[in-house]
Amino acid sequence: GSDVGVEGDVSIDEDNAEDDLLGGLRIDDTSDITVPDRLVDQVIGQEAAREIVKRAAKQHRHVMMIGSPGTGKSLLAKAMSRLLPKESLQDVLVYHNPDDSNEPKVRTVPAGKGEQIVDAHKEEARKRNQMRSFLMWIMILLAVGYALLIATPARPLLALLSAAGIYLLFRYTNRGSDAMVPKLLINNADRQVAPFEDATGAHAGAMLGDVRHDPFQSGGMATPSHERVEAGSIQKANKGVLFIDEINTLDVRSQQKLMTAIQEGEFSITGQSERSSGAMVQTEAVPCDFIMVAAGNMDAMENMHPALRSRIKGYGYEVYMDDTIEDTPDMRRKYARFVAQEVEKDGNLPHFAPDAIRELILEAKRRAGRKDSLTLKLRDLGGLVRVAGDIARSEGHDLTQRSDVLEAKKRSRSIEQQFVDNYIQRRKDYELGTTSEEAVGRVNGLAVMGGDSGIMLPVMAEITPAQSQEEGRIYATGQLKEMAEEAVENVSAIIKKFSDENMSEKDTHIQFVQAGEGGVDGDSASITVATAVISALEDIPVAQELAMTGSLSVRGDVLPVGGVTHKIEAAAKAGCERVIIPKANEDDVMIEDEYEEQIEIIPVTHISEVLDVALVGEPEKDSLVDRLKSITGKALDSASDS
Ligand code: ADP
Repeated sequence: GSDVGVEGDVSIDEDNAEDDLLGGLRIDDTSDITVPDRLVDQVIGQEAAREIVKRAAKQHRHVMMIGSPGTGKSLLAKAMSRLLPKESLQDVLVYHNPDDSNEPKVRTVPAGKGEQIVDAHKEEARKRNQMRSFLMWIMILLAVGYALLIATPARPLLALLSAAGIYLLFRYTNRGSDAMVPKLLINNADRQVAPFEDATGAHAGAMLGDVRHDPFQSGGMATPSHERVEAGSIQKANKGVLFIDEINTLDVRSQQKLMTAIQEGEFSITGQSERSSGAMVQTEAVPCDFIMVAAGNMDAMENMHPALRSRIKGYGYEVYMDDTIEDTPDMRRKYARFVAQEVEKDGNLPHFAPDAIRELILEAKRRAGRKDSLTLKLRDLGGLVRVAGDIARSEGHDLTQRSDVLEAKKRSRSIEQQFVDNYIQRRKDYELGTTSEEAVGRVNGLAVMGGDSGIMLPVMAEITPAQSQEEGRIYATGQLKEMAEEAVENVSAIIKKFSDENMSEKDTHIQFVQAGEGGVDGDSASITVATAVISALEDIPVAQELAMTGSLSVRGDVLPVGGVTHKIEAAAKAGCERVIIPKANEDDVMIEDEYEEQIEIIPVTHISEVLDVALVGEPEKDSLVDRLKSITGKALDSASDS
């Protein structure tokens, strides 16, 4: 029933809905779930975007969607096209222009009429041709007969020449009649729904239309220019939806043309490459009355042509796509429907058993990276559904099982994950990993790459007497320089309170063992940097079977960071036995079972706890930690007051 939130041969176990990963949904497998007919009803979450798409379809407005890849932008744009009326669809014809063959004429007729018109023209041309060849043969016969009658020894040659002459004359003038048949540029005869054109990454010709080059431009062999006209996405999208993702990557010239097209509702087609003969041709205006759905991430907005953006803003809607959605029993049941949708869409996958769906929903929780949430990056999750289904099929399973999903997760690792695994392997080969049990100034930090792959990145600190007279400096290598400076600055406020060492007389050198280029987030390493610096400053070693992540406030509080699940798994993979995380992140931890026994998770709230766990060597450490503990937020406040 619809009260379940999912249609089909399903019921719901109310008592267990809260605890069950399936939200209490009772099914034998995903084939029991009915997939909604309308595309717009298949969209999971994205409530705001869905409402806007419906409204914009009704009001014929443009839409700008901002959000992460794979969250349903193109799906929604397509869904929008299905909501548009199909009655208004048109066919477009291009005609030869007898006055100027480089300015083909354009005519618009109701959908379905175009084919009829072209057929009628063809029929006429065929008849005309028949007539012409009939005439031609009569003339050839007459000419040959006449030539043979003439009293000269060259009679056969004369006959042959006159026959050939007449034949060639007819052939050459024949082209003119072909040119009369118009080209059906846009044919909507068989179209059941309004068009949806995806112009993402399209070059100018594909988007705005083009006129093909004609190598036989001069001379009688030329293809008439109107036949070389090709429609672009904007003309094909007439009365439908034009979708452009990564709108900012579109070159400025194309963005300007696009804007003109939107303003005018029509756009003439010309050859897009300057040196081509097609560039001499320009048609009359072709209708392009589309709704534009432009998409991109936040950065995309900055690079987008401001006038185009304001055009959309002024005449349409802007909407953010959600990355995650609240994890409720109702939503879990919708995710089960999502699995059913993806299986149906693929057409070749075995349906999913309840436990296999549960495992996928667990993965959706893990990937959300925050508590009580499910990820809406559903393209990737859909990929997992397909890989799992493929595995099930190759294993000969009737239904996709939980084990197939687990296997799929192993196989469908992102490039980043593969890179990280590779890197860990390499480091193990060179024994760059955790070799000794303890080390002064060396701390195992954790970072996330590419959104879903954790990696362990050791940080090393060394303290030397200041080279400059006035102040101690911070030297950091790698792209995390700024973060390192901030972390050291924060920690030096704390150090000032408990240590006899004067940071202003010291130079601090921080080195990150880099994992190649880019993709490493900085902020979450600040407790790592702080620990390394304190260890180096006080000459107390740090345990090396330990890794940590956390952000540090000036008061020594450990603040939450992103991606803890992936980070913990990375620490476990690298062979660590313990991992420190911010207490505030405790609920975000959704590590896989296999790691749970391997690694102990230690949630902390203050830097003193971090050092208590990380530093080795009893007497020194204890006194240091004691001193640190006394520095509460209050103490720091009064210190800065005085
Ligand atoms: P985007 O355009 O945001 O990059 P797409 O719309 O192309 O993402 O999504 C790719 C596929 O992922 C869709 O065809 C669909 O199968 C699935 N998908 C993504 N988001 C959703 C969603 N919110 N609801 C249902 N399926 C989704």
